[in-house]
Amino acid sequence: MTTTVWWIRRDLRLRDNPALLAACAGGCVLPVFVLDRGILDGRLHRHATRRRAFLFDGLRVLDTDLQALGSRLFVLAGRPLEVLREVLAVSGARAIHAAEDFSPYARQRDAAIARELPLQLHPGLTVHHPGQVLSKQNAPYTIFTPFYRAWRALGSPGIPCPAPKWLPLPAICLRAEPLPVALGNPDFPAGEAEALRRMDSFLAGPVSAYALQRDVPAVAGTSTLSPYLRFGMVSPRTAAHQVTALGEGSGAETWLKELVWREFYLSVIYHFPRVMQGAFNPRLRAVRWRDAPADLAAWQQGRTGYPIVDAFMRQLLATGWMHNRGRMIVASFLSKDLLLDWRHGEQWFMDHLLDGDPAANNGGWQWAAGVGTDAAPYFRIFNPVLQGGKFDPHGTFIRQYVPELVEVPLRYLQQPWTMPPLEQALCGVELGQAYPRPIVEHAMVKPRTLEAYKASQAAYGD
Ligand SMILES: Cc1cc2nc3c(=O)[nH]c(=O)nc-3n(C[C@H](O)[C@H](O)[C@H](O)COP(=O)(O)OP(=O)(O)OC[C@H]3O[C@@H](n4cnc5c(N)ncnc54)[C@H](O)[C@@H]3O)c2cc1C
Repeated sequence: MTTTVWWIRRDLRLRDNPALLAACAGGCVLPVFVLDRGILDGRLHRHATRRRAFLFDGLRVLDTDLQALGSRLFVLAGRPLEVLREVLAVSGARAIHAAEDFSPYARQRDAAIARELPLQLHPGLTVHHPGQVLSKQNAPYTIFTPFYRAWRALGSPGIPCPAPKWLPLPAICLRAEPLPVALGNPDFPAGEAEALRRMDSFLAGPVSAYALQRDVPAVAGTSTLSPYLRFGMVSPRTAAHQVTALGEGSGAETWLKELVWREFYLSVIYHFPRVMQGAFNPRLRAVRWRDAPADLAAWQQGRTGYPIVDAFMRQLLATGWMHNRGRMIVASFLSKDLLLDWRHGEQWFMDHLLDGDPAANNGGWQWAAGVGTDAAPYFRIFNPVLQGGKFDPHGTFIRQYVPELVEVPLRYLQQPWTMPPLEQALCGVELGQAYPRPIVEHAMVKPRTLEAYKASQAAYGD
């Protein structure tokens, strides 16, 4: 029997995995994960301690799943090209199969490896390849709605393929590394079984109210599948297939759209890798952001004095995940209220999110800062008080993450600085002490922001 390598990257699953199936067709399979030194020492993804722990947990679970099929996982540390070269030499394997990844780093790495080794890339990271979702003029889309229409016009997501029933291991000796020990995350246990469990329970209930409840952070109204999709513990095709099978209900359609937003941003970095370096919109590349480290630190730690912003920033620190409404609110606050470079926020999210993904994160930040492809207009600035009142009307979410404000009456909760001193004393929150006063006055920021954005446009020659 010949041997092939299944090179696992961000597809930690056995079901619906075209790269794994292609490897199986060749005979014996060697499942390999390369602990890239660049990732391990934090050069590629800086701190991201939680996300790394989630990945290591996911690999441990994958190893157990592989053992149930008569196989095992080989974790090898080093630079991918050197490690794979060595694996081929030791095993005599004739091919390496992997799922294609679209980040600029991954594409450069894979192109360099494919020049020297028999690397074959397969679909799996998206339902439709970004090179297929094109306009009639064969151009990539920069606006979501036509992208969505074209994506749907490509037909149904297709039927997910089953997991292999048995995976014969080649009889060779490879010295594998133990996985680094990492603390698990009780809110997000890793692994394919957990991903499928979450998806099934979401699709069995909350999806029907998704269109209404997805913006309410106090309600478990979204799937919380993002870390699992990030590491391919469930395939996007499986998710799209399952939700499509539910029919045309408004929740199902809305959720499918979110899965397609994920593919839209993957398509943006595939066709426009330069977005990883700066604003997609050339007119807004010269915005003069403020240099205010104390404001940045207050935003990062959830001490801006705006309860809804602080609650979401603390949710990120506490759990490694943030509700989508929160991501939009805090990103608007950083870039527009504080006029701080959105790339600081992009980096902070990459350091702390379990689902931190270069495409979705960059796309989300460019959208919120109004500098991206299908961006929120730059002159639209979220009002954090109104957003809080609308999406956390009972203050449940704020009270969960900002315990200093638990006793504050609802009428002051979104703007505690309006509380008279007597009221502050009654509920035990002295402003400026127990909880900060606002670090910026929202009502005053608009002219400053508009001026900065307009100056950038003027410098471009508009
Ligand atoms: C500033 C900002 C940064 C973001 N950074 C990331 C990131 O690093 N990684 C990430 O996966 N998502 C990111 N998002 C998108 C979105 O916030 C999360 O995908 C979503 O909150 C995850 O929760 P969920 O799994 O419950 O989503 P659901 O509402 O259940 O949606 C299902 C899936 O669709 C995808 N999805 C949903 N919304 C979006 C979107 N706007 N863009 C891209 N994909 C989407 C996700 O894979 C998600 O798991 C960001 C959004 C913003 C505004």
